[in-house]
Amino acid sequence: MRRFKHRARIVAIMLAVMTPLGIGAATAGAGSGFFSADDGGKDWPAGGRDQSDQHFSPLTQVNEDTVGRLGLAWYWDLPKPQLAISVPLEVGGVIYTATGYSIVRAFSASTGKLLWEYDPVVRDRRMAQAWGIRGLAYWKGHILFGAVDGRLMSVNARTGKLVWSMQTLQKGDSRYISGAPRVFGDKVIIGHGGAEFGANRGYVTAFDAAGGRQLWRFFTVPGDPAKGFENKAMALAAQTWTGQWWKFGGGGTVWDAITYDPELDRLYIGTSNGEPWNHKIRSPQGGDNLFVTSIVALDANTGDYIWHYQVNPGDSWDYTATQNMVMATLAIDGRPRKVLMQAPKNGFFYVLDRETGKLIGADKYDKVTWADHVDLDSGRPVENPNARYQDGHTVIWPGPVGAHSWQPMAFNPNSGLVYIPTMTMPGSYDDRGIDLKAYRAPQNPFTLHGGLNIDTTSEIPADAGTSSLVAWDPVGKKTVWRVEQPGGWYGGTLTTAGNLVFQGRADGKLVAYSADKGKPLWTFDAQVGIVGTPISYWVDGRQYVSILAGFGGSGLVFGEMVRRFGWDYRSQKRRLLTFVLDGTQSLPAPGPRAQTNFIDALDYRPNPTLEQLGSRIFVSKSCYACHGFGAIAAGGAPDLRASAIVTDQSSFDRVVIKGALESAGMPKFYELTPAETGAIRQYILSRARLARVQESGESVSSAQPAPAR
Ligand code: CA
Repeated sequence: MRRFKHRARIVAIMLAVMTPLGIGAATAGAGSGFFSADDGGKDWPAGGRDQSDQHFSPLTQVNEDTVGRLGLAWYWDLPKPQLAISVPLEVGGVIYTATGYSIVRAFSASTGKLLWEYDPVVRDRRMAQAWGIRGLAYWKGHILFGAVDGRLMSVNARTGKLVWSMQTLQKGDSRYISGAPRVFGDKVIIGHGGAEFGANRGYVTAFDAAGGRQLWRFFTVPGDPAKGFENKAMALAAQTWTGQWWKFGGGGTVWDAITYDPELDRLYIGTSNGEPWNHKIRSPQGGDNLFVTSIVALDANTGDYIWHYQVNPGDSWDYTATQNMVMATLAIDGRPRKVLMQAPKNGFFYVLDRETGKLIGADKYDKVTWADHVDLDSGRPVENPNARYQDGHTVIWPGPVGAHSWQPMAFNPNSGLVYIPTMTMPGSYDDRGIDLKAYRAPQNPFTLHGGLNIDTTSEIPADAGTSSLVAWDPVGKKTVWRVEQPGGWYGGTLTTAGNLVFQGRADGKLVAYSADKGKPLWTFDAQVGIVGTPISYWVDGRQYVSILAGFGGSGLVFGEMVRRFGWDYRSQKRRLLTFVLDGTQSLPAPGPRAQTNFIDALDYRPNPTLEQLGSRIFVSKSCYACHGFGAIAAGGAPDLRASAIVTDQSSFDRVVIKGALESAGMPKFYELTPAETGAIRQYILSRARLARVQESGESVSSAQPAPAR
C-alpha cells in the first residue's frame, strides 16, 4: 500500500483497521452481534461499513492503478418510480437495498440475481417518495429497517420473511422514519423525522434486536413542564427554553445520524432544527433550546444523557446536526484523541473529543455568513449581524438545504482526509408580516412549520447552487483539495485503501478520484443523476463496487439548477449498478431524452395578484418540497407545469383537496378551499406559460416570477 503524506499524523486508525477482528477488542459492553466477524473489508454490513461510520473500505484490488479497468458487472432496473438514494448493505455475497416506499430487496452480489423482495406495504405514503428511507441495518442474519410509516421491522436476511414489526411512532402523529436504524450489540435504535410538519418532539427509541421489545426512549427536547420531565436531562434542557414551546413541538428530530461507539459503549445522536424554524416563535425570550441542532452522547444501555454539543444555539435557520458522524482516533497536538467528526448543514466542520464532548475544532468548509467563527473555549458560534433576520430580510449562507445534507461524508485513515459532498447555496430569511405572537402550529402536517417567509425564486444569487467534493484535513483544519462538480445536488461518498474516493454526481456520472490529490481517474455514465452512496466488498476473490443510481430525495428542491440534466421523475432509469475489474456489461442505450410538454391551458389569463397568492400557498404548503421551487420539478416528483390535472379545477381539487393520488405519495391538503387551490393552479399555469415563453425564445423580461412574501 502506498504511503501518504498525512499518514504520520494518524497514530491510530479506526477500530476495524486497528483490530483485525473488528470491534471485538474494544467492546466493553454491547459490541457483539454487529458483525459476524470483521474481515478486512470483505463485507459491508452497515451504512458506513463499520460502526465508525467512515464509509471506508480497506480493500485494494481496485486501486488508483487498476481503477481504469473497472467495468459494469451487472445492473438491475428498479420498477418505477421508486426512489433510489439509499446506501446498500452487503453481507456474505448478498446485497440488500431499500428503495421508495421502504421496499427491501436482496440480490446475489456476483450475478445480480434478485433473491427476494419484501414490501412492507406502506399505506401511509405521504411524501414517501421524496423522503424514502436512507438505509438498512444488519444483525445476526436479519435485515432491520424503518418503514416510512414508523414501523421498525426485522426480516430474515436469507428468506426475506418478516420476523417482527413494531410501531415506533404514536398513532396519528406526523412523524415519519427516513433514516436507517443502527445496531449496537443485541439492540437496535431508530429515530424519526418531522420537525417541519406538525408539532413534533423528537426522540430515539432502542429495541431488543431479536424480538422488537422496547428498551428505552430518549426525548431530545423537553415537553410541557406541567406534566413533569422524563429525566434530569429534560429538566436541564427546559431551562434553555422560554414561553410555551411545548405547544409547537420543539423539533430536534433524529432523522438520520446515530453512531455507536463500542470503545465507550455509548451512542451519539444528531438532532435536527427547532420547530418551528423561527426561534422567536418557539422560544420568544431567547434561549439555546437544548437539545436541538445538537450532538448528544447517551449511555447505550440505559439511554441516559452523558454530554451534548450544540452546533447552533437557538437555531433559526433549519440547520441540523443530523449529518453522519464519523469516529476516528486522530493525533491532535501530538496526542491521540478519540474524536467524533461532523459536517452539519451550517458549514462548519466540527471535531469533538468523544470522551468528553469538548470541542477540538470548528472550521468553515464552505461559504458561511451566519457566523464569523466558533469560539473554541466556550464552544459557541459568534453570529454575524442580522443572522437572526431581526432587522428584516437577509440572504444567509448556507440556507436550509445546508452546505452538506444527509449524503454521507467518508473518512480515509490512510490519507487522513474527510471527503465531504457539499453544495454552496444560501437561503433567504425574513419574518416581516408574520404575527409571531399569534403563530399557531398548522393542523395539517404537510404545512411547513417555519414561521418565516421563504423567498424561493427571486433573490438567490446567480452564483449559488454549485457543488463540490471537498477533501478536508480534520487535524490541519483546512481543505486539501476541492473538485467542482455540476451543481444542484450530489451523491454520498465512499473511500478505499486503494487511494480512491467514489462519488456519484447530478449529471449522472459516477467518478473515482485519487484520495490524496483529487485527480479524476475513472468515470462511468450512469445515464441518471446519482444521489446514493457507493459501497465496496469482496466476493470470491474479487472486489466489487455497488450503488443505487437515481435522482431524488429531500433537499432536491431547486429544479432550475438540475433541469439541464433532464432527469424527469417519470422517465428516469433508476438502477442498482455493480462494478468489478474487467466487468464487461454495458447499459442499454438511453431512450430519447424526456420532453417536458408544458401545459397551455386555454382558459389561462395572467393575474399577477392571484399568482402571487398561489406562489405563497405553494411554499407554505410545502408543495416545493417535492415539486420544486418555482414549480420547476427536479426529478423527485412530477413537473406540475406539464401535468394535465392542473388544467382542470375539479381534477386538481380531487388530487389536492380530496387526496386522489395519496397512494402515489401525494398528500391531501384537505384544509384548502377551491379558491386557494385555484390560486395554486393559476400560479402553476403562469409558471408553465413562462416556460413555454422561454422555450420559444421570446422575451422573458415581463415573465419573471414574483417574489413570495
Ligand atoms: Ca429540517
